[in-house]
Amino acid sequence: MIQAKCHCGAASLGLPTAPTEATECNCSICRRIGARWVYFTRQEVTLPAPQSTQVYVWGDRMLAFHRCRSCGVTTHWQSLDGSRDRMAINARLIDGLDWSAIRVRPFDGADTWKYLDEDDAV
Ligand SMILES: [Zn+2]
Repeated sequence: MIQAKCHCGAASLGLPTAPTEATECNCSICRRIGARWVYFTRQEVTLPAPQSTQVYVWGDRMLAFHRCRSCGVTTHWQSLDGSRDRMAINARLIDGLDWSAIRVRPFDGADTWKYLDEDDAV
């Protein structure tokens, strides 16, 4: 189990695998947060205690962005649409990652909703 934890340690998540790839999105929220996202299903992840995070929801209210209630670091997002299982964890919260060995993929969430390094859709 790989651990991702906020600066103060109050909000910590468990992931099944270390990332080999992460997404940097240029949408209005992601570019401000500066997160590098890795995606899992809800079942694969051990979530932080609910009271350890605060939620930010905006726009079409599809996603809930969680941040630590104490230190304010963004930890993850989850879909508010119950039919969608996919969630994202901010891989910058994983200690000791060798980022030179991880493919960081630019995602155009601001406009085309495509990866900018190839033609793949999400
Ligand atoms: Zn914290």
